[in-house]
Amino acid sequence: MAACNETHNPTLRSWVDSANLAGCDFPIQNLPFAVFRRSGTNENFRGGVAIGDQILDLAAANQMGVFTGTAAAGVQAGAQDKLNALMAMGPEVWHALRLALSHALRTGASEQAALQTCLLPQSQAEYDVPARIGDYTDFYTSIHHATNIGKQFRPDNPLLPNYKWVPIGYHGRASSIGVSGQSFHRPSGQTMAPGAAEPTFGPCKRMDLELELGIFIGSGNTLGDALNMGEAEDHVFGICLLNDWSARDIQAWEYQPLGPFLSKNFATTVSPWVVTLEALAPYRAPFTRPPADPQPMAYLDSEANRQQGALDIQLQVGIQTPQMREAGQPAAIVCNTSYRHAYWTVAQMVTHHTVNGCNLQAGDLLGSGTLSGPTLDQAGALIELTQGGKTPLQFANGEQRVYLEDGDAVVLRGWCEKTGAVRIGFGECVGTVLPAKARKSI
Ligand code: MN
Repeated sequence: MAACNETHNPTLRSWVDSANLAGCDFPIQNLPFAVFRRSGTNENFRGGVAIGDQILDLAAANQMGVFTGTAAAGVQAGAQDKLNALMAMGPEVWHALRLALSHALRTGASEQAALQTCLLPQSQAEYDVPARIGDYTDFYTSIHHATNIGKQFRPDNPLLPNYKWVPIGYHGRASSIGVSGQSFHRPSGQTMAPGAAEPTFGPCKRMDLELELGIFIGSGNTLGDALNMGEAEDHVFGICLLNDWSARDIQAWEYQPLGPFLSKNFATTVSPWVVTLEALAPYRAPFTRPPADPQPMAYLDSEANRQQGALDIQLQVGIQTPQMREAGQPAAIVCNTSYRHAYWTVAQMVTHHTVNGCNLQAGDLLGSGTLSGPTLDQAGALIELTQGGKTPLQFANGEQRVYLEDGDAVVLRGWCEKTGAVRIGFGECVGTVLPAKARKSI
């Protein structure tokens, strides 16, 4: 578990002036990774590090040869078109690279002249999914979400008895994961109207979002060898924002007995920037369970997890309708919450995933599950915010929404802030719903 060190020192300033502005997502204490290229070009994607409103190009920095030793090996791996090689190297390399970047980007650094030529403004960049994602698993770690949604799908039995014992998850689909800026056509499928005799086919009528965090696996584990709670976080590279788009009407009809399928696998959007666990060290929080609840089984418990297994990441959901976009208005904020309300931690997810010997691999992605907080205004999905479509959201411009309409964009944001530490952010995760495609006739 990464502890605070000199890279988190709140007095550090960068020679990239925009990194020193109050409220900036990417100060020198953050240093998240993405893959990028110049917008509108056919250049190869390569790894980059956010600093202020700029990207430090790791391929260019590698060519300049300013880094040495372990950090140089990290820069070389990070210069590739996906971050898998860097992710696979493990925490020793990640830490050495972060420390070297922190030194080289500080005010007065001797590397300034060389690295100044390796910067690209973020406004001139386009991004790709940061890793080649072999497998994607979506968990269900918010007990508030599980209870709220359970009430709607099974009013008589909202929270199933396994929830407080097992970190619930299902295997999702990696091929349809896209990066922020993704747009996708509204899916079509089978739905069953309440009280109807048989299902109908057509475009989804209950298009929803899910506010989640994505956890990128770093070095994997050997098939058959379980990771324990003490090892789990050494296998986590970092965290991004994730929108697990959900077709609720398709989900309600298809999800029993094996869980979600076509209601989830048409699109998943991640933010380009991956914030490392080390950057998040100041924002650790105790993991607690209500005393009346079952405490985690021994294999899911550790002193370190109890002391600081949770993460206080502030999360926000906004919806920008086409009318707002045309009027130049920003997204309307519909939810504010924090990751600290989750029922299971990152270490517990990783440990549980491998307890049967399942092998995680570098670049695998775990979704946290919808991160709803304890009150309804902290809910991370429209199905909860509108109580199943019964109470529409009312926007300041006079528009209403129960579910997403064609042209709506969803904007997720995340950040950490507290007294005594520098605020760090995750940037944005934006995705847009397009109209359903006309079906080709047979
Ligand atoms: Mn989900």
